[in-house]
Amino acid sequence: MQVRTARRELAGARRAATEAAESAERAARSARRLALAVDVVPVGVMVADEGGVEVLRNSTAAGLLEGGPGGVLVGHALTTMMAEAGRGRSGAQTVDLLGPPPRTVVVRSQPLTEESDLLGAVGTMEDVTERRQLEATRRDFVANMSHELRTPVGALAALAEALADEPDPDVMRRLARRVVDEAERATRIIEDLLDLSRIETEGAESRPPVRVSALLARATERVESAAREQGTRLVLPSDDPLTVPGNEGQLVSALANLLDNAIKYSPAGSVVEVTVGHGDGEVQVAVRDEGIGIPAKDHERIFERFYRVDPARSRNTGGTGLGLAIVRHVAINHGGRVMVQSREGEGSTFVLVLPEVHP
Ligand code: ADP
Repeated sequence: MQVRTARRELAGARRAATEAAESAERAARSARRLALAVDVVPVGVMVADEGGVEVLRNSTAAGLLEGGPGGVLVGHALTTMMAEAGRGRSGAQTVDLLGPPPRTVVVRSQPLTEESDLLGAVGTMEDVTERRQLEATRRDFVANMSHELRTPVGALAALAEALADEPDPDVMRRLARRVVDEAERATRIIEDLLDLSRIETEGAESRPPVRVSALLARATERVESAAREQGTRLVLPSDDPLTVPGNEGQLVSALANLLDNAIKYSPAGSVVEVTVGHGDGEVQVAVRDEGIGIPAKDHERIFERFYRVDPARSRNTGGTGLGLAIVRHVAINHGGRVMVQSREGEGSTFVLVLPEVHP
């Protein structure tokens, strides 16, 4: 009798032990799963228990905290924030790291409470550098765009006022001519902005092969009247079969902008020459002019939106400051690039490099 009872108890104890082991294994797997999931989060996460002892640190947190002098500063902010959370208060602090490269990390903390029971605290560290830069670029862009549009719109208002009070028909005609010019300028800015935004959103969509000679023919059509007005001679390459993968509309727009600039920034009666070459799986389309050239210090900046070497000259020639930004974006969309070689007073060569397709 006693032996049977003892056996039953033993079996019960074994079952209980097995269940306890399985439950511990499940808890351990659940903890590992959670740690792995937290590791994937692109924000630094650190968890402390109710005594303030660290119990979890994900790999983003490790990267931010162990990265040299910057890591020490982030660590210091985190310690302060975690102490706050340990006292039941959440907090946030922005840490600006001088770099190089300069970075901004936002450190936040929060107490972990269940009803009124404090179980610990969680701290997060987020590198917001890129987001801030993007916001600043957007702000600058909106400010620049408003400024650019304010000029012709302001001129239109002033001209309209002058027209209203003008009795002399000759002066009226002159003023009306200027109204048209300013309205055209505003339209050009808006059209270029729309072009740029379309090119940015279209990105690198499907890119069927297109003949470079066909692109050049269409781009030349767009600048023919400007060339005629300036007495510029356009020299084009002989028809060749080179092909690039491309969005025809975007590529024509890029080439037309390069040709338009070559004509605009050259003296009347000069030559603009286009040559096409290929090698190393790339096609190079070069647009060369004998114009005013670009100082070396501006070679990088001319591709920025609204950047002009000489704002007055760009304005007089009807420039919007967006042409080269469009060219650069088209090149990037096509997996290519745009380069410039130029000397002040001697002329410039812009080279659009695109991947080559072998038909
Ligand atoms: P814009 O509408 O003012 O021409 P772009 O973005 O096309 O704007 O060009 C930016 C600036 O780069 C121009 O304002 C001009 O100063 C300079 N630039 C561009 N192309 C040439 C060129 N072929 N020769 C001399 N300067 C040029």
